[in-house]
Amino acid sequence: MTDKPFSDRQKAFVREYLLSGNASDAYRKAGYSAKDANVAGPRLLANVRIQEAIAKKQAKRFDKLDIQADELIARYYEIATADASNLTQLHVGACRHCYGRDFKYQWRTEREWMEEVSQSADRKKPAPDCDGGFGYRRTAAANVDCPECEGLGIPYTVFADTRLLSDQDRALFRGVKQTQFGIEYKMADQSHALDQLAEAIHLFKKRDEGQASLLAEAWAQITARGSKAPIRRDKPAGDKP
Ligand SMILES: [Zn+2]
Repeated sequence: MTDKPFSDRQKAFVREYLLSGNASDAYRKAGYSAKDANVAGPRLLANVRIQEAIAKKQAKRFDKLDIQADELIARYYEIATADASNLTQLHVGACRHCYGRDFKYQWRTEREWMEEVSQSADRKKPAPDCDGGFGYRRTAAANVDCPECEGLGIPYTVFADTRLLSDQDRALFRGVKQTQFGIEYKMADQSHALDQLAEAIHLFKKRDEGQASLLAEAWAQITARGSKAPIRRDKPAGDKP
């Protein structure tokens, strides 16, 4: 057979065959006579140049799929192995009584106390005193002698400045939401990413045994960190008088 270019019908046949995988069907849809499609279709498919054209297009398609799969695996891997504590951390600080005078309730500022006094007037409640003094900082370390929290302090959440996140941490970060409980950090579901990664690796395992080690690595990283559940709320517990 000479190397003259394919006719429009031959090109259409290749295209249709790639879509349906059915030679007779492709033959008809390419505009050839429908009458002997069941014989002529498979015969055209057996043609060497048609075979080559189909193989070439299929290879291109698989290459594209490979790239997509690799990107997907890389992305799931990034999410599954990202460290949630780079986004939020749980810290423990002083309770209101840790450094109050005689371990009484300590206000942040005089202004905070005054506001509470005026609010209690509105609510017809007795005004709070300021015997514990001022200067409370929740970031101060808990006082081991504090009878109120027994030195355990009060947990609070710290959020990362999202402008400073690494690319991997950014893959985990899905935005913030202001709720009635405070700021809520939304994160990609790491266990879902790991499931997807496992599935993708299972699918590609036969083709490339090397990928399987990624999963083992991901598991090791995640289990080494212990709990992977992100802490989401920033409202400190027991912070109101
Ligand atoms: Zn305390």
